Formats: sequence, structure tokens, C-alpha cells
Amino acid sequence: MNTFKDKSIVITGAAMGLGLATAKYLAVKNANLTLVDYNEEALGKAAEEILATSPEVKLKTVKADVSKEEDVKRYVAEALNAFGKIDGFYNNAGIEGRQAPLTNYEIDVFKKVVDINLLGVYYGMRYVIPEMQKQGSGRIVNVASVGGIRGVLNQTPYVATKHAVAGMTKNAALEYARDGVYTNAIAPGAILTPMVAEAFKQVNPEDPKAAEAEFAQRNPTKRLGKPEEVASLVAFLLSEDCQYVNGQVIAIDGGESNIYGNA
Ligand code: NAD
Repeated sequence: MNTFKDKSIVITGAAMGLGLATAKYLAVKNANLTLVDYNEEALGKAAEEILATSPEVKLKTVKADVSKEEDVKRYVAEALNAFGKIDGFYNNAGIEGRQAPLTNYEIDVFKKVVDINLLGVYYGMRYVIPEMQKQGSGRIVNVASVGGIRGVLNQTPYVATKHAVAGMTKNAALEYARDGVYTNAIAPGAILTPMVAEAFKQVNPEDPKAAEAEFAQRNPTKRLGKPEEVASLVAFLLSEDCQYVNGQVIAIDGGESNIYGNA
């Protein structure tokens, strides 16, 4: 879809990484954007960046923590106040947590990952879907991960919550397509964002760039993904061009999740 003119799109985790890349992509296509993040400073900078390149865009920022139900109700209300409807919802905010074997994982961190990645995504759908039902249309893109379709060493809560995102996506798709609300998820591989840069620091604190290069070598494309590449897939799934695609968990990983054995 070449234009998102008069389309109201809500993006969580919009201050950086995948959320910001999609916000920029949709701003160029004239969407009305509600950008949600709990990092107020980064959110302000993100808005400035977007307005610098797309000065005409209608944009609302909301400081909210997706793991708090009241905050979620508030960002939905603010999007409706600003733009009167929600056509597309990019339910993207998430964290990795720390990397540690299952039996050593800190319980507090485990619970935090569940609160943000699982409950945050659930609250988002819980309060956005009724608005889309009233409208008789809507598109939701949840963010799983290759960790939502495969195991990933030392990331038990991340993998558990991203599998949950895939599951909730399938259920929402079954329950609300009859109302014109289509729900899909993306499953990105390693896309170079601040979160992934941080993960490489945990893998090799002395030389994160070496960890990154080693990871890229395993990918059929021999490189990591770019946030802009994810943005164009998300834009399609949020648009009216997305017809009859529902309940899918779409890998965007250069084909890496298909490898079995050495490649
Ligand atoms: P990132 O850390 O670069 O950006 C995430 C943004 O979400 C940040 O602005 C952060 O402040 C915000 N955020 C985190 N928790 C929040 C909360 N509770 N409430 C509101 N905002 C919150 O991460 P990213 O790489 O852009 O990841 C975005 C999503 O994509 C996450 O769900 C992540 O699990 C998923 N993902 C990323 C990759 C990748 O390679 N980058 C791969 C698979 C899945």
C-alpha cells in the first residue's frame, strides 16, 4: 500500500529499534501515528527525528509501560482522542531479559520478561480489539521472534514468552477475523537494533563485534537483518493489502530458522 493517509496506527516500543524504523516508514506514507514507549527521553528524540524528515505527519507520543494495564488503557484512549480510531496496531514492545541457563535464571528477571512480553502484548490486544470490532476492521501485528518458533540457548523466558505471543496471535486470529480484525505475528531473526547490540555484549563482553560477525556467518545471507527490512513487512501486514492472511507467524530471518545441521 503506497499511502497510509488517514490511517491511525499505534506502535508500542516506538522509541528505538524495530518500532522506530516502522514509525519512520509509515510517517513517509502519511500515517497518523501514536507512538508509545516507557523511555520518555528516547521517545521525544524519536518524535523529533521523524518530524525532521516527515514534517507533515500527525504524531502523538504517549509515555506508557505496556506491562501496566492502566497504562495500556491510557495509550488506547489517547490514540482514540487524537485520531478517532485505530486502524493498525504494531504490538512491538519487548525485552530480552538476561542470558543464563534455565536453572540459574533470576526469577525476578523471568517475571519481568513475562510481564512485558506476554502480558504487555495481551493487554494491548485486549484493549485495542474492541475498538477495531466497533469499526468492523483492523490489523494487528504482534512481535514474536525466531525464539517464538525455536529454542534459543540461555533465553528461557524470552523463548517462553515469544511462543506465547505466537499462541495468542493464533487465538486472536480465530476469534476476531469474523469482525474484520486480522492478527498476525512477525518472527524476526537477528536484526541490528539496540537490543541485539546489547545481546552481543552479553555473548562476548570483550569483543561484541566478533560475536556479531560469528552470528552473521551462520545466516544463509551472511549478514544480520536491518530494521527497515522489517518495517516494510510490518507495513504490508498493517495495510488493507493484507487480505486473508490471518493467524500467521511470519519469519523474517534470512532463512536461518530453516537450517537443520551444518549449512
Ligand atoms: P529495542 O530494545 O531496540 O527497542 C525496544 C523498545 O521498546 C525500546 O524503545 C524500549 O524502551 C521499549 N520498551 C521495552 N519495554 C517496554 C515497556 N514495558 N513499555 C513500553 N516500552 C517498552 O528492541 P528491538 O530489537 O527493537 O525489539 C522490538 C521487538 O522485536 C521486541 O519485542 C523484541 O523481542 C522483538 N525482536 C527483536 C529482534 C531483533 O533482532 N532486534 C528479534 C526478534 C524479536
